[in-house]
Amino acid sequence: MTRWRLECTDCGYKWILPVSYRLDQLGMIYHYCRGCRKSTFHRVLERIED
Ligand SMILES: [Zn+2]
Repeated sequence: MTRWRLECTDCGYKWILPVSYRLDQLGMIYHYCRGCRKSTFHRVLERIED
């Protein structure tokens, strides 16, 4: 499965989201952040290959 490294634009928390669709075409996604403990915008940093 494809994984993506995301960065919260509010607190800078970085984490990895495993999803099969192409997040790089979006550039930005709205998702729950464990750092902020709320949903925030995340920058899609890179695709991680296994
Ligand atoms: Zn955050």
